[in-house]
Amino acid sequence: MTLPNSILNQNSHYDLILIGAGAANLSLVLALKESNYDGSVLILERTDKLPNNRIWSFWYHTTLPKHITSLISHKWASWSVSIGTSCATMNAPTMPYCSITAETLSNAALAVIDKSANYSLLLSCDVVSVEHKKNTISVITPAAKFECSQVIDTRPPIPEIPNVGLLQSFYGMEIKTESAFFTPSKVDLMHQLHVSNDRLEFFYILPFSESHALLEYTCFTRNNIPQMELKHQIEAFVTKYINGSNYSLVRTESGVLPMYNITPPANKKNVIRAGISGGAMRASTGYCFSSIQTWAGQTAAMLVNAEPLQQIIPIPTIYRWMDDLFLKVLCHNMNIAPVLFYNLTKKLSAPRFARFMTEKASILDLLWIIWCMPKLIFLKALFIINEKKQVNAKKK
Ligand SMILES: Cc1cc2nc3c(=O)[nH]c(=O)nc-3n(C[C@H](O)[C@H](O)[C@H](O)COP(=O)(O)OP(=O)(O)OC[C@H]3O[C@@H](n4cnc5c(N)ncnc54)[C@H](O)[C@@H]3O)c2cc1C
Repeated sequence: MTLPNSILNQNSHYDLILIGAGAANLSLVLALKESNYDGSVLILERTDKLPNNRIWSFWYHTTLPKHITSLISHKWASWSVSIGTSCATMNAPTMPYCSITAETLSNAALAVIDKSANYSLLLSCDVVSVEHKKNTISVITPAAKFECSQVIDTRPPIPEIPNVGLLQSFYGMEIKTESAFFTPSKVDLMHQLHVSNDRLEFFYILPFSESHALLEYTCFTRNNIPQMELKHQIEAFVTKYINGSNYSLVRTESGVLPMYNITPPANKKNVIRAGISGGAMRASTGYCFSSIQTWAGQTAAMLVNAEPLQQIIPIPTIYRWMDDLFLKVLCHNMNIAPVLFYNLTKKLSAPRFARFMTEKASILDLLWIIWCMPKLIFLKALFIINEKKQVNAKKK
């Protein structure tokens, strides 16, 4: 049930408090419901409604749970990456690119919360801190204190400009046009990929029909880009793409995502981080939704079996290591970035690419991906990592 403010006067104890009602915790609610979890769950969300301002896209794989695949609104068997007039297109009908709207996931989670007596949701509730006492954990908000046995915290980290790593800044416009401009069977993952002022820039086109699409300007940088600048870039692109014809704006979405590996703080007993702050995001791409489902399934199993709550980073170490190396190469050689992304799309088979993007690659897939990369540049980057590690070790 969605709780009224009167809850603030009550002094209940919950088995589990979920901080933040975004992709990770809403996915967990669905996974817990599927596993018939019967503990009491309180969800505390800062904003006044569940998310409805974004579309989560990911590659389909057979290990995704049915309660997630049943929410998919669109599937595309083809996707492409282009530089100038060269375009590399991939086709994988068995591992298509898929989308779920935030609204659909929110509604599915709300249905669980409304129908089940053991789930409660409190909106407009800004969590300030989490405090440990002997056997109880207190979650503090400006208006109240909630006690519980376990906490899953998804308050996102503030993206910083990292020593090594990048920021992914983007601004998107979902539009409807009067004439047909889009190819509904294919996603442009990275359209007009190029480097300008040491930024990797591209446009993302997610078509829902011939006259309806989400278009996004994205850049990978080492600086913060003012939102107005991102907005101007996509507006100019949209105007050009549809030859200056009329369109209606359905909604906008934007964000700044960390492009570096996030390691959650050391496990505090019965308090864990999840979602982006739990290290669920692929540093080299910003994709997170698929790994969140892996995390939600494993965490729900832990809770249902009453096992001690463990921090799970759903991105296996090999991907974190490869992403780290890849980002070091980009940081030192931004100019080759378009060719790296383009070649990856050109040289890999579509299923292999999709497996890599969803952390389902085989050893052979990983070896093949390494083989497709320019060896000398990567070896140099590897040397830089080791050199830095040695310098840091000496400092300590
Ligand atoms: C616009 C956008 C589009 C994206 N598209 C994709 C995509 O297509 N595919 C993909 O894989 N990834 C995508 N991502 C990246 C990632 O999947 C999302 O950011 C995803 O929402 C992360 O899930 P999360 O649960 O970690 O964080 P969120 O979904 O952001 O949830 C965190 C929640 O915590 C709440 N909160 C924050 N502070 C407090 C507080 N103090 N007290 C209480 N609540 C608080 C927030 O309001 C929010 O609802 C996108 C990100 C953005 C911003």
